[in-house]
Parts: sequence; structure tokens; C-alpha cells
Amino acid sequence: MSAKKVVLISGGAGFLASHICDQLISGGYKIICLDNFITGKNANISHLLRNKDFVFVRQNVSVPFKVAGKVDYVMHCASPASPVDYYSYPIETMLVGSNGTYHMLELAKAKKAVFLLTSTSEVYGDPKVHPQTEDYWGNVNPIGPRSVYDEAKRYAEAMTFAYRREFKVDTRVVRIFNTYGPRMNVNDGRVVPNFICQALKGRPITLYGDGKQTRSFCYVADEAAGILKLLFSREPGPVNIGNPREFNMIEFAKLVLELTGSKSKLVYKPLPEDDPKQRRPDITLARTKLGWEPKIELREGLTKTIAWFRENI
Ligand code: UDP
Repeated sequence: MSAKKVVLISGGAGFLASHICDQLISGGYKIICLDNFITGKNANISHLLRNKDFVFVRQNVSVPFKVAGKVDYVMHCASPASPVDYYSYPIETMLVGSNGTYHMLELAKAKKAVFLLTSTSEVYGDPKVHPQTEDYWGNVNPIGPRSVYDEAKRYAEAMTFAYRREFKVDTRVVRIFNTYGPRMNVNDGRVVPNFICQALKGRPITLYGDGKQTRSFCYVADEAAGILKLLFSREPGPVNIGNPREFNMIEFAKLVLELTGSKSKLVYKPLPEDDPKQRRPDITLARTKLGWEPKIELREGLTKTIAWFRENI
């Protein structure tokens, strides 16, 4: 029998989780990857399918399921994560955050495995505290279009902490901030794929609102490394993992134009409802408790991402 540790990961064919799978395989772990391909893609994991340490099961974790054998770590990464995706799949998003989290926690409990929830900076809503620290409770509209994601993740955090208190499941919660890199879904509507594809095709760059809203973008390899540091730590979290370098969307559009050498014009479109005006993680906790901080600057990460998009659109 293999002595390798087994990690079961939901949503493993998604953009971010597929990079987590890559890092786990490089680190000598076995993976059981579950995905129902709502927003995940076979192409994100096709390079892993022949690896004997990687097992893929097509499974929706919002319905009950069984897993045979030992599992040492359970990572619940499944969920539509871009605003366009969760507007398209509102019920699925709520169910994977609620029932999905419940099923994954039950599995962790039964297998005596460590459980990690990938939560989100969206739990802070349109934040009134800036930058966001983990002790901020957030400013979320409970019935707006974004609520299907925000409230599902808030529920998922509450459920995770309930299992920790009630059943002593060894849990971790990470709050993921905006992440970008190769394998982002070209059509997921997020700002990074939108701007890069528009620039590469010479189409207008669509700035929503006045373009002065801010975000902080973390390169996917950094993000995945931070999440795994949390998984293998003793820290329950929640811990913010993201890049604290903050840009507004006009600055970001100009950087994409520069790095692609595109002559696309900037055009302004309406701001989506409840779009947060500012977002930047305070990563003091990740720095001090995990010894983690991002290494890849936006220019370097965007250059790699643009190269990937050139090949894949
Ligand atoms: N955005 C934009 N143009 C686009 C797509 C998004 O100006 O074509 C803005 C959006 O309004 C938001 C920011 O970029 O303020 C980041 O949006 P994204 O959908 O990437 O993720 P969010 O951080 O809102 O979840």
C-alpha cells in the first residue's frame, strides 16, 4: 500500500484548484479530484489524467456521494467563482456552498481528515474597512445578485466552524482574493480575461462604472502555494491569501494595453449591482502565521498570463 498522503479535492478541474493539484502532485501527494464540469474544464487537468497518483471522478458534491479508502486531507474548492458564472448558476452556487460543504465536512469527519474550505474576499462584501482584515465581519447585501455566492460562502464558513466546535474536525478556512493566471476561463467575464482578450483582439476595453474601483491581483501559483501552506499548518483561519498591491481598473487596463502592445480604446459600461468599490487584503496573518507572501509581481504574472491567452484564444 502506498504511504503517500491522499488529498480529496472538489472542483479540482477549476482554474485555481487545477494549479493546487499540480503543486500537490509535485509535492508527492495522491489526489482524488471531483468535478462536475459546470465551470471546471477537462483541459485544466488533462495533463494529470495519466499520472497514477491522480484519480478523477465526475461528481457533483452538492448531492450525497461515497469515497472508498483513506483520505488524509479534504479540500472543498468547488463553486462557480466569477460574478458572470454565479449569475448564470445561482442555485448551483448556493447548493455547493451549503449542501456541498456539508457533504465534504461529513467526509472529513468520517475519514478523520483535515478539512479546508476555500472561502472568499466576497464575505467582506462592499467593505467599509480597508484593507480587509480577517476580523472584519463584512458589508454584504443578503438578497442582491452577488448574494448567491457571498452568502453561500458565509454559510460555508459558519458550517466549517460548527463542525470544528461540535465534532472537533481539524478545519482551515482561506479567504481568497482576486487571482489570475493561465487556465482562467476565457469567457468567465472577469476583468483579467476580459481585458486581455479584448486587447489581443483589438476590441474596446470595457471599463465598468468610472473604472476607479480597486482590486488586488494575486498570481495563481502564489495563491495555490499560500492555500497549501495553510492546509499543512495548524492555523484554523480564516486567513486572507492574496496580493496586497492595489490597482484601480483604469490603471489595470493601461497595463494590459502596454504589455499586449494593443491599441484598443477604453469604453465605459454600467457598473454591475453591488460591485465592491475597493478590495485589498491585509495579509499580516498569512505572513506571521504561515510565513507566506506573494512573490510574483503583477507585470511578471500578467506577461505569463498574456502569453497563455495568446495560445488559447
Ligand atoms: N470589470 C470591468 N470590466 C470588465 C470586467 C470587470 O471594469 O470587463 C470590473 C468589475 O466591475 C470589478 C472589477 O473589474 O469592479 C473586478 O471584476 P471581476 O469580475 O474580475 O471580479 P470581482 O472582483 O468583482 O469578483
